[in-house]
Amino acid sequence: MDQYDDQFKNLAKDAPFEHSPVMPNMLDGDTPLKFRCHKDVKCWNVCCGNIDITLTPYDILRLKNRLGLSSGEFLKKHTVPYEIDKDGTPGVKLRAVEGGTACQFMVPEGCSVYEDRPTACRYYPVALLSVRRSDEYTDRLSFALVQEATCLGHQEPDTQTIDQYRQGQGAAEYDEKGRGWRQLILKKKSAGPAIGKPPIISNQLFFMVSYDIDRFRAFVVSDAFNTTYDMPVETLAELLADDEKLMDFGYAFLRQVLFGEDKIVLEKDGAYEARTERLKAQAEQIKAEFLANRDKIEDEKYCAPPGQPGDCGCGDKD
Ligand code: SF4
Ligand code: SF4
Repeated sequence: MDQYDDQFKNLAKDAPFEHSPVMPNMLDGDTPLKFRCHKDVKCWNVCCGNIDITLTPYDILRLKNRLGLSSGEFLKKHTVPYEIDKDGTPGVKLRAVEGGTACQFMVPEGCSVYEDRPTACRYYPVALLSVRRSDEYTDRLSFALVQEATCLGHQEPDTQTIDQYRQGQGAAEYDEKGRGWRQLILKKKSAGPAIGKPPIISNQLFFMVSYDIDRFRAFVVSDAFNTTYDMPVETLAELLADDEKLMDFGYAFLRQVLFGEDKIVLEKDGAYEARTERLKAQAEQIKAEFLANRDKIEDEKYCAPPGQPGDCGCGDKD
């Protein structure tokens, strides 16, 4: 038994659940990783046959461009929604094949979208942990090891550090592009549901900005956006021409709207008041609809239908 087997054995003792494949220790980038995946391993494609893959906004951008789909089409065809936390923060996962657990992109040769495969696929068998200490403003990357008995890559002799493995997989580039979103998630988790807009509205906005970039682009050029915000034409043109810039703008925009952070885009004079009036009118309308509906339910509960025994006649009023 070599030093790495010893390392796994000790980590396994600390595992939170008896069969959990995730080793609970937080590892640094310079931790040695004994692992290699290649076409001749006996377990080729086993990992892609039973997926549970969370997608980041940058994953979606890369995949939908590769497949020539709009973000909306990609979301419908290739993802399933889930909730990231107990406050209902929306997330999306890769959808498996109809009636099965395998990835839609798996082919006998391996991954059919390899150059644009998601972050989680690049990392496996390492898991990325994004953590922030209470006295720090930015997150720091930490890692955990996923060791599943079905993955025989751990038995290969090759060793590299986790950072070298990340570089080789192109994961470092994905981490860089995903930094704004990771920080937003951490901020949302630490803020909880009581801060910002009502959760449903904020979650819808969060979903659109994070995952549905084509709809967000349409929103940025819409009258609704432009009557509220004062965005220079040059900035708007730049955002419309570059999806990655639009994505980064989206994260900053969410921080402004949800948490009142630095203004990335100025509100026009009177926009706040106009929005407050609009929300008030919406709230009044919802209240009126609720009350009308409640009265109707009460009537139906106590009165027999018109013409039936027990009909008190109130149905005639319609
Ligand atoms: S995207 Fe590619 S690497 Fe990831 S699970 Fe699907 S087939 Fe496997
Ligand atoms: S070695 Fe692991 S990662 Fe590679 S194909 Fe096998 S199960 Fe998948």
